[in-house]
Amino acid sequence: MTVVQKQELKRVLREVGLRATNARALVLGCLMDAGRPLTHAEVCDLLGEHGYDRATLYRNLVDLTQAGLVTRTDLGDHLWRFELAGAEGHHASAHAHFVCQECGDVSCLPDDSVSLNAWRGAPKSLKQKNVEIQIRGVCNDCD
Ligand SMILES: [Zn+2]
Ligand SMILES: [Zn+2]
Repeated sequence: MTVVQKQELKRVLREVGLRATNARALVLGCLMDAGRPLTHAEVCDLLGEHGYDRATLYRNLVDLTQAGLVTRTDLGDHLWRFELAGAEGHHASAHAHFVCQECGDVSCLPDDSVSLNAWRGAPKSLKQKNVEIQIRGVCNDCD
């Protein structure tokens, strides 16, 4: 991460009222680079070289989530995955996720790849698109 990137990340953190610590900037940058939801364990692996302990990284993930920068999803395997919240506070459900049944890999699908059409009497949460859309299948690597 360059110095400029780090400063930019810290600016984002301050904007939402968080203290701009190095660990927080790293965790946020890690999720930005990933472009897909990451588990706590994956974040720990990716940031391993920086020497932060797992509890610190977890706490920062939770702080970022509470500040609204990051959303947290459980895709049915009882693991929390964290991903960058979209612009204007989009819920993670604004797009669907593809989950590989073989390797468990999760990727984000483009916004318009799956469309949700509410019908009469549909649950309110569905109308508000406050739901999670998950597509399960086999990824190209496992095919
Ligand atoms: Zn796979
Ligand atoms: Zn996603």
